[in-house]
Amino acid sequence: MRGLIIAIDGPSGAGKGTVARAVAQRLGYRHLDTGAMYRAVAWKALQDGLDLADEAAVAVVAERAALEIGPGRVQIDGTDVTAAIRTPQIDRAAAAAARLPRVRAALVKRQRQAGEQGSIVMEGRDIGTVVFPDADVKIYLDASSEERARRRAADPSHGVGRHAALADVESELKARDYSDSTRATSPLAEAKDAVHLDTTGLSIEQTVGAVMEIVGEKLEGGK
Ligand code: C5P
Repeated sequence: MRGLIIAIDGPSGAGKGTVARAVAQRLGYRHLDTGAMYRAVAWKALQDGLDLADEAAVAVVAERAALEIGPGRVQIDGTDVTAAIRTPQIDRAAAAAARLPRVRAALVKRQRQAGEQGSIVMEGRDIGTVVFPDADVKIYLDASSEERARRRAADPSHGVGRHAALADVESELKARDYSDSTRATSPLAEAKDAVHLDTTGLSIEQTVGAVMEIVGEKLEGGK
């Protein structure tokens, strides 16, 4: 039996990154942050002076750019953008690029290629619904918007600024949730067969433990 495909979806700030990374590490699986792919493409499009509404031009970036989404490092066409893609400007630009069907088609294709061998934890918005609808394990991570804003503001890798008002971070998150859930192509939605985990009030360890329990049951059942 090949290693599992584990899909972790959910809104911004629900803890997908931290949890997906920890679960991958415990299992010895690869981890793919698909949001980083949308962010890197948006960064490159802005860098090249493209209009984010120009679907054909942004799609060329998504189709052709060399993307390396490694542990703790993101590169596009040889440029390290690890820090540059975690800013409020790229939050908005990535959500705009993610609305474009041709951009999604290009990145979904690359995500399927990256995951088809299994032994991977993939996180995003549409992994369990579109990228791998037959994923072995599907988790939908959620938390209240207050809690998600608090986590985002405290995340040192995310350049929201130490003095950003929590209310502003929360309203930015809500705007992005709205954009992600109302777009025409693969909106953020919970797969019918996903396990819903509300992490409000749960520590990272507790959340990772809950996911590992679900994975363990799947592994036991597959023997
Ligand atoms: O997960 P992260 O916040 O880094 O994702 C950035 C943006 O990329 C999201 O707001 C969303 O618009 C888009 N995205 C997506 N589908 C994915 C992952 C991210 O549309 N699978």
